[in-house]
Amino acid sequence: MTTGGSTVSPQGTDALLARYAGALIPVFGTPQLVLTHGKGCVVTDADGRDYLDLLAGIAVNTLGHGHPALAGALAAAADLVHVSNFFTTPAQVSLAERLIDLAEAPAGSGVFFTNSGTEAIEAAVKLSRRTGRRTIIAAERAFHGRSTGALALTHKEAYREPFAPLLERVVFVPFDDPDALRGAVTDVGDDLAAVVLEPIQGEAGVHEASADYLRLARELTTAGGALLVFDEIQSGMGRTGDWFAHQFSGVQPDALTMAKGLAGGVPIGALLTFGPAVTGLLTAGQHGSTFGGNPLACGVALAVIDTVEREGLRDNAIARGEQLAALSHPAVVEVRGRGLLRAVELADELAPAFVTAARAAGFIVNATGPTTVRLTPPLVIGAAEIASFVDAFPSILDAARVANGAA
Ligand code: PLP
Repeated sequence: MTTGGSTVSPQGTDALLARYAGALIPVFGTPQLVLTHGKGCVVTDADGRDYLDLLAGIAVNTLGHGHPALAGALAAAADLVHVSNFFTTPAQVSLAERLIDLAEAPAGSGVFFTNSGTEAIEAAVKLSRRTGRRTIIAAERAFHGRSTGALALTHKEAYREPFAPLLERVVFVPFDDPDALRGAVTDVGDDLAAVVLEPIQGEAGVHEASADYLRLARELTTAGGALLVFDEIQSGMGRTGDWFAHQFSGVQPDALTMAKGLAGGVPIGALLTFGPAVTGLLTAGQHGSTFGGNPLACGVALAVIDTVEREGLRDNAIARGEQLAALSHPAVVEVRGRGLLRAVELADELAPAFVTAARAAGFIVNATGPTTVRLTPPLVIGAAEIASFVDAFPSILDAARVANGAA
């Protein structure tokens, strides 16, 4: 292919981005990179440049890239990739049991498998409707997904407005505000089906709910006969050091959603219902999925969980997270979050420019807002890799300032 006199490889970055623009619906804008392969925490682009992946596909690539456990599980699953839900498989049953165990859920708990986070939320919404009530309380700044039920619980007006009207009986309350939650529960009264909360709001920029707030949510929903649903699609699967972020609080929800890191990049999600009464709300025929719970996704998820345990990756998440939390710079207001779910809050509106400058310096990070840089690296990341980013931080910030014209 020849452009302006020079030869461009049809597989190089520029050519692939041109082909992307001609072939994909543009909901994601222009991709920042064309990635061709990865190893460990390093990914390589179509022009052969390496980047330290501090985003992990937004908290998805638990084991990084090309991990032997992932490769082995994928190969093993090739024998029986899919069966319909007329049948089950050892991988499906074992994964459901394992998740119930990891979530410390009581006897009589159950799992419904999906292919994504938003579908896990859809299942939770349908579960909540089986209470016979309709109103759901969700939090301001919450992100629960893009399918229309989950979108109704997602706070950002710009995401919801083009698709209105969505589910109507949704009440948003300020996050981690006990009085606002108390007031809303009282106002909704007998129609309250569920309170849905992220124990750590990820897309909003990594904001943690206090243990007291989660306990209050438990007390109010129990007293009001409503379900308490924790959305751990981003914060779950060991990323915060606990298997699920809410576990630090000792609060047991009625339902828990997970996805992202569960199978390290193979699409899967799950709704976990706690105890027989909640599990019994959904009966045969009331919900379903063609791909959800297939042996490919379940087998890989089991391998990911085994590897997190065998390699001590929850402890690594805590240790590497502390390394990030220690990042200190005059332009950093705070480093929020737990384990390897982190946000660096900048004093100035430099986050988008920081992302670009970081990429030029060989690091992949993401901005959740004008002042917030999010870091969700693979749980296998090493101390030296985190240190390389911490060391590069001041020069990346300087480059971001120059790019923003503030030099
Ligand atoms: N819930 C939370 C907390 C999330 O972070 C996300 C995705 O970012 C979702 C739900 C939606 O998940 P998915 O993109 O897999 O549909």
